[in-house]
Amino acid sequence: MSVIPVFDRDLLRRYDGPGPRYTSYPTAPHFDVRFGESDYRRQARTSNDDPVPSPLSVYVHVPFCHSACYYCACTRIIARNPARGREYIERLAIEIDLQSKLFDRDRPLTQIHFGGGTPNFLGAEGILAIMARLESAFSFDPEANREFSVELDPRHADAQLVADIAAAGINRISLGIQDFDGDVQKSINRIQSVAQTAELIDAARANGMRSINVDLIYGLPKQNERAFGQTLDTVVGMRPDRIAAYSYAHLPNHFKAQNQIQAKDLPSAEDKLGLLALAIDKLTTAGYVYIGMDHFALPEDELVQAQERGSLHRNFQGYSTRAECDLIGLGMSSIGKVGNAYVQNAKELPAYYTALLSGHLPIVRGYELTVQDRVVGDAIQSLMCHCRLEKNAFGRRHDLVFDEYFESELARLAPLAADGLVNLKSDCIEITPRGRLLMRVVAMCFDRHLHKVQVVPHKFSNVV
Ligand code: SF4
Repeated sequence: MSVIPVFDRDLLRRYDGPGPRYTSYPTAPHFDVRFGESDYRRQARTSNDDPVPSPLSVYVHVPFCHSACYYCACTRIIARNPARGREYIERLAIEIDLQSKLFDRDRPLTQIHFGGGTPNFLGAEGILAIMARLESAFSFDPEANREFSVELDPRHADAQLVADIAAAGINRISLGIQDFDGDVQKSINRIQSVAQTAELIDAARANGMRSINVDLIYGLPKQNERAFGQTLDTVVGMRPDRIAAYSYAHLPNHFKAQNQIQAKDLPSAEDKLGLLALAIDKLTTAGYVYIGMDHFALPEDELVQAQERGSLHRNFQGYSTRAECDLIGLGMSSIGKVGNAYVQNAKELPAYYTALLSGHLPIVRGYELTVQDRVVGDAIQSLMCHCRLEKNAFGRRHDLVFDEYFESELARLAPLAADGLVNLKSDCIEITPRGRLLMRVVAMCFDRHLHKVQVVPHKFSNVV
């Protein structure tokens, strides 16, 4: 049953501050350079030896973009020359071959996600070339089980590109919009028409794609409730299956392009809360279900159904229905999770290329999970995905007594319970509708790494 989050301005104001998004636990700042290629190879081997090895999921990072959006905090390279994309595909092919040799061939590849950057910088032919390489190196799951998705920048894509990638097996797309208002678009250097976006959505439907996601951002320069309301109405009229409405974090000291944004053009903290309230109101009124962490989906969408079944999962791409997969990260800066370890590739192109050309995986850091990490990670997953932790079932799963194991965490949760964010019951912990917009704050109470270090603002965005 869907729960509409309660927008409590006072609580949001009080609890706002930097915090992890928990796409992993521990979070990426805790990854260690002492974890290297041999550790990863060992994890891959061990994962093959499981009595029932997990299916595989692949994330492909394409770092290139045609121009700089000023709000951007992604790992990306501004490029004009398509030859840079062709060179990247050649190197990626080496990585695909090295990685595929680590995994038993009978493990199905069930999920592929192209992210960026701008995957369509490579054109349809580039995406198709990577798909073909993946198909020859891995065993694709039967079509009905596949979840193959691509993030597209609508300014550099058209209906033909959508038709071409659909023919190659891509069955989902994700489109960046942010805001359709002309003044906002000018101030973020991202001019994108409604027509460009609608063309891709129509093409995705015409070509039988199973899911369409769009991304919006609130808190951008020149944004106001009137114009953002119109963007929300336009987006709702397009009826994408999923909508993400992210909060803009202005950190110009850490993301160079953000220096192009004039601080005076940014909405005040109060106005930004107003934009969030507006998004929640318009999207839930239009029938979208609030999944959590900025994500909304139509009731018939798989994410909503997975949440209702209790099988929703969170990974580096956000919410996912494929909890059981080993995730192989491909491309510059990508992060994977195989067996009991997270692993990250080189974040600069020269280092990424050099490693591959010398026959090595371009791994620069990683993290091997301890038993405690797995226990705490499971607790955080349950809260972030289902807003609920059943103490007895959790205790049986990990062979522990919940209230003893989490004694300090329960103490940290007590003030949140007093503020009405969580209910602390004898048999479960549940995040209330009032706490749903602050689920990161609840999860942070369980984070045993976070409590050993100072939370540095640029490492994590604000929770609201
Ligand atoms: S927001 Fe997307 S398209 Fe714009 S610069 Fe960043 S990665 Fe590229």
